[in-house]
Amino acid sequence: MNELNPDEFHPQTLAIRAGQLRTNENAHSEPIFATSSFVFDSAEQAAQRFSGAEPGNVYSRFTNPTVKAFEQRLAILEKGERAVATASGMAAILSVALGLLSAGDHIVASRSLFGTTHVLFDKYLAKFGIQTSYVALTDLAGWQAAIKSNTKLFFIETPSNPLNEVADIKALADIAHSKNVLLAVDNCLCTPALQQPLTLGADLVVHSATKYIDGQGRSIGGAVVGSNTLLELIYGVVRTCGPCMSPFNAWIALKGLETLSLRMQAHSAQALQLAFWLQEQAAVGKVYYAGLPAHPQHALAAAQQNNLFSGVLSFELKEGKAAAWRWINATKLFSITANLGDVKSTVTHPATTTHGRLTPEEKQAAGISEGLIRLSVGLENLDDLKADCLRGFAAI
Ligand SMILES: *Cc1c(COP(=O)(O)O)cnc(C)c1O
Repeated sequence: MNELNPDEFHPQTLAIRAGQLRTNENAHSEPIFATSSFVFDSAEQAAQRFSGAEPGNVYSRFTNPTVKAFEQRLAILEKGERAVATASGMAAILSVALGLLSAGDHIVASRSLFGTTHVLFDKYLAKFGIQTSYVALTDLAGWQAAIKSNTKLFFIETPSNPLNEVADIKALADIAHSKNVLLAVDNCLCTPALQQPLTLGADLVVHSATKYIDGQGRSIGGAVVGSNTLLELIYGVVRTCGPCMSPFNAWIALKGLETLSLRMQAHSAQALQLAFWLQEQAAVGKVYYAGLPAHPQHALAAAQQNNLFSGVLSFELKEGKAAAWRWINATKLFSITANLGDVKSTVTHPATTTHGRLTPEEKQAAGISEGLIRLSVGLENLDDLKADCLRGFAAI
């Protein structure tokens, strides 16, 4: 393993070279260690490894060299001391909860969260006596007011999906820390190529590596990044409860990091151009994209996200659900699927899929109208994507 000094190199270099594994075979590309366990030279060594007296591999639920390479590279890109990889993004969020919270604790989370995160908090964590309150991402006074004596964790996603609201990470970190609360940021939409929440004061970053880190929709994975102290607690959960990442998925995620910066620039450039173009279409009401100068948190997003705004945008058709479904069904390129962060562009109707379980009142409060369409803008030719949108507009 060659250890690069992260201070000496730029992120694009570290994304390709950090955490590199080289075995005695001298393979140029990092190998996949497809093994469940590791052998010991002697009974004595086995005992030393098990007790932790001697560092080294024991079993792939604890450590695996391919998984470790991904963890080291991601930690460096997020500017964290340590990363722990998990089986999925949801496993990352669950591990944060199991590692840091106890019965009787309280979470304050942003209202616009990935749907399954809501279910994890309200259905499963609630079963074990952990309550969650929800606050609008941008309502700083609301976050302050929501803190109770038992609040342990703030949990946010920024920008939010599908409406692209942007949180002031530094301001939320200050509010959290003034009351001894930790701030966790789901950095799935921006990735460390655009935004490094730990440098803005967040305590933990969680990832669904399934999205932009993989980048080609091939695998499920996740990770948590932060300080050694906090990550030791997360690691304890992963090695004991078992939501570890498989070596093969770690290898895909590791390779994904190598092209992440270039892909995020390209996704962001395509989405910005498409957002401007959609704004000019007669059938379109509002376009939700933080890259548009009219977006209420545009300046904050530009400063916080390296002046890039990722590939997810939404727009409202002036007519409602029937028009939205006709628009979606008329496209040929956009895949009708809930996944995002893929080189393939995807389209969803949030009101009847990702947000379908909300009541009409809840949808209205969350800003999810019946005419809303979400796009994850991929890397196909932009003119081809516009032509596909025109098929949609023609079908309304
Ligand atoms: C997909 C997603 C998750 C969950 O990740 P999985 O890998 O599907 O478990 C969490 N947060 C956000 C923002 C996501 O988009």
